[in-house]
Amino acid sequence: MGNNNNIIKQIRRTVLIVEDEWINTEILSEILSDSYEILTAENGVEALRVIRESITPISLVLLDINMPVMGGFEFLSIIKADEAYKRLPIIVLTSEKAHELRALELGASDFITKPYDMPEVIQARVRRSIELSEDRMIIQAAERDELTDTYTPHIFVEYAAKIDRYHPDDATDLVVVNIDKFHLFNELYGYDAGAYAMRSFAEILKDVVRKNSGIVGRLQTDYFVLYLNRIENYGSLMQEIGGKLNRSYGISNLRFHLGVYRTENKQEDFEKRLDRAKQACDAVNASNKEHFLIYDDEAQRNTLFRERLVQDVRRAIEERQFEVYYQPKVNVRGDQYILSSVEALARWNHPELGFISPGVFIPLFEEDGVIRLVDRYIWREAARQIRSWKEKYGVSIPVSVNISRIDMFDKNLVSTIRQIVDEEGISVDDMYLEITESAYNNEVEQAIATIEAFKREGFTIEIDDFGSGYSSLNTIAVMPLDVLKLDMKFVREMFKNDKTLKIIGIVADIAKNLKVHLVAEGVETEEQLSALKHMGFHIIQGYYFSKPVPARELEKYVETNHLIQTGVTLPC
Ligand code: C2E
Ligand code: CA
Ligand code: CA
Repeated sequence: MGNNNNIIKQIRRTVLIVEDEWINTEILSEILSDSYEILTAENGVEALRVIRESITPISLVLLDINMPVMGGFEFLSIIKADEAYKRLPIIVLTSEKAHELRALELGASDFITKPYDMPEVIQARVRRSIELSEDRMIIQAAERDELTDTYTPHIFVEYAAKIDRYHPDDATDLVVVNIDKFHLFNELYGYDAGAYAMRSFAEILKDVVRKNSGIVGRLQTDYFVLYLNRIENYGSLMQEIGGKLNRSYGISNLRFHLGVYRTENKQEDFEKRLDRAKQACDAVNASNKEHFLIYDDEAQRNTLFRERLVQDVRRAIEERQFEVYYQPKVNVRGDQYILSSVEALARWNHPELGFISPGVFIPLFEEDGVIRLVDRYIWREAARQIRSWKEKYGVSIPVSVNISRIDMFDKNLVSTIRQIVDEEGISVDDMYLEITESAYNNEVEQAIATIEAFKREGFTIEIDDFGSGYSSLNTIAVMPLDVLKLDMKFVREMFKNDKTLKIIGIVADIAKNLKVHLVAEGVETEEQLSALKHMGFHIIQGYYFSKPVPARELEKYVETNHLIQTGVTLPC
């Protein structure tokens, strides 16, 4: 802090004199111009303009009261209501005692009485006011998080300790709040929007703690922390915050989750309590079903498990613990079923934790970003498999690989996949790309650009989980797609209500209009198969044919069922 002070003291400050009588302006300028840069204005309106337009920040305003157009009092009340300038110190220039109280009430810092016959006194008051306000700014900057105006972690812990000390008998909770996938929000909407969202969210939290006699701090990027009086029902707190979010401009799509550590023993180390609240918060994130969690032993185990998985990724890749399973997509158009392609699905054989399904580790890896490493590995493995089947069967069995929405942000995505294809000696016709619909819910333009780049290279693009996201028909229409893959939930519910059947019919129509192929996945029964076939779905994937299986088993399956017609290229 000392250093900051020194730096600040070396800069030449700017003082704005607001005074309609030029002779007074002259005198004050004369007194102050040795030490300060001087700006002038003849009334309140002009002063506001100067303050807002000035490139160098103004350190102090000397303000006359009686001026034409806008007088000193009106100026004061406007400036003190302005978030950006309310801390600007203002010294009122007056000859009337009666003005002093009013000016004080409106937030003036000091007075200088006319006439200006004591230059040293004026210099001293100006200097003192500037110093005071800058000291306060330094203190506030250290106490408050600049972006969100909540407490910095250090000060938060200190104030929480104070609460414990003075209210030893009040039951309290420590709550860590995290915004869901905030890094994505930033990547999608840009950092300015991210900062805005963060500030608005902080305001909502402040509002909430005010009612529960608590305090708010920010731990790191998108983690907030609250210390407040015991809340019995976190469900309704979640609703309250959610409601406020919904009503807030520009952030109504923000989601959040929180972890609670109930303080039973105020002597317990605060850092440890904080750790546990954060663990609970992170554990919610993994399960994704409930959006809050109160810390207990299970929460602890869950966090450890998640951390372990992310920690183990690099090693797992090195030691080839990931295995690619393949699930057939079967062309059912004609009388004879033929293999159309297969989908590559990742599996993890963890040496200590056993078999882990992608439903568990993919969301975790997406959150952390390590999905990029895993996907690269899977793509390469798939490419090798394609090559080996080509050699074995004399035809290509195309493999669809999954591309995560996180991969879509990678500038080198297209060249990476192209390189894998080239290095493994296969062709772009052999590797289909499944891009989930949610990958372009928000950042449509970038997604289109990426997909177009893939198309230019000659790849086949399948839109996965179609119907689960919110892509508009316009988007779909301008995207150069090859395949729409109906989201599995429609198949699961197709006979439960008419609406689902109708939606499936609409998807089929869309595909027909766009002249793209249709795939239905998650097909488990004969009944589903024939209904889908009837509606124009000619490529079917699902347990009805086979679960995802290791490469060797897939070979056995297609051989015994005569699904490969050697010598001809498989239809899409
Ligand atoms: P997805 O891409 O939608 O894959 C289809 C999922 O449905 C697979 O789950 C598959 O095993 C399952 N499935 C297939 N047929 C049926 C059926 O008839 N009934 C039922 N109930 N399920 C069926 P899986 O293998 O557990 O993968 C889950 C998700 O994890 C995938 O959903 C995909 O989003 C993701 N994933 C898997 N492997 C990878 C990968 O290598 N990279 C990326 N980025 N994501 C992957
Ligand atoms: Ca898929
Ligand atoms: Ca899917």
